[in-house]
Amino acid sequence: MPPMRVCYACERTFETPRARCDCGEPLWRPIEPLESCPSDAGSSGRSIWRYDAVLPASQPTGDLEAGGAAVWRSRSLESYAGANVWLADEGRNPTGSFKDRGSAVGVAATLEAGIDRVGTVSHGNMASSVAAHAAAAGIDCTVLVPADIAEERIRAIARFDPQIVRVHGDYGRLYYDALELGRRHGIQFLNSDVPLRVAGQKTLAFDLLETVPSLDAIVLPVSSGGNASAVWKGLLELRAGGLLESLPRLYLIQAAACDPIAAAYRSDRERVDPASGVKETVAYSIANADPPSGTRALAAVRDTDGAALSVDDDAILEAQDRLARDAGVRVEPASATTVAGLRRLTERGDVGPDETVACVLTGRGYGGEGELPSAPVVDREDLESSLDSE
Ligand SMILES: *Cc1c(COP(=O)(O)O)cnc(C)c1O
Ligand SMILES: [Zn+2]
Repeated sequence: MPPMRVCYACERTFETPRARCDCGEPLWRPIEPLESCPSDAGSSGRSIWRYDAVLPASQPTGDLEAGGAAVWRSRSLESYAGANVWLADEGRNPTGSFKDRGSAVGVAATLEAGIDRVGTVSHGNMASSVAAHAAAAGIDCTVLVPADIAEERIRAIARFDPQIVRVHGDYGRLYYDALELGRRHGIQFLNSDVPLRVAGQKTLAFDLLETVPSLDAIVLPVSSGGNASAVWKGLLELRAGGLLESLPRLYLIQAAACDPIAAAYRSDRERVDPASGVKETVAYSIANADPPSGTRALAAVRDTDGAALSVDDDAILEAQDRLARDAGVRVEPASATTVAGLRRLTERGDVGPDETVACVLTGRGYGGEGELPSAPVVDREDLESSLDSE
């Protein structure tokens, strides 16, 4: 039997399903070679479950269909981005972000292990995703959020009716406390980078390479580093199974206002330290100042010969507009960092104009933010003349 958990950094193995290694780094499940891409999907459609040979659970527990990313070439963005751009729209997942891949596998594997309560530490997409999958599976869910959470956020999470606890104090610390408390209280915490979440989210790499086998690079927004770890692991499993010769370069993008991973990359450090002097950013989903898988994300960048960089809010908002106005895709600002980042990468020559690059649009967002348009109010009899004035 392979071990339950492996440390990517020191290669220590563990026989129990823990989340962190003694060396402090996050653990994941052993590399499971993917030997064939099941494009003939059968009853599981294009969802993540067609990869069940390399998933830690054999079937979904509810009816929510996670995965099956829409991946298409976007010619209308190519002059702006400076390379052959493919878009992967993770916003089509049940709750509008890639987190559903990890939540689906996390909830299913938790139930198969005989535990019937899940939780997470999040005030954003992950909270809604875990709560929705718990709801569909008919099990209890606890979400720990900061005490000062904004009203529209708590409403979005409450929609799925989990137990919500607003916690005072250091929110970064809560990630670790929750893992510990979960063990004592029979709650499987599906935090941002835990092994079960990574196991589900790695399927994004499979979807990308299935559609675009000649991919030179993948551009991802990064916050906790959990998803970057997952995509890296997916690539390693494709290579281990003989489906991929060399790994596409991983480019990880952060918002300049909060960029501990990009800062570590810039100064050539081995480890990611917590960011100080963090400011607000429009990219609210990627503002983790103390990323639990930051150092692992950095390892993914170095292993694939990629880079980590940050883009400022103006560049993010401009890319978000381009995505909507030129490509017809609505994304939240965190996802627009990919197109802004690719533009920088082609400007500075890291990515060549003939290279093929996938930008992962990680989440859809609410859609109600942004500028109010100047839409005139007209009477019915003036409608025709107002159409001519366009
Ligand atoms: C969670 C999230 C991210 C960042 O993923 P990490 O695994 O925390 O690095 C990026 N974009 C969106 C939309 C997210 O919800
Ligand atoms: Zn270790």
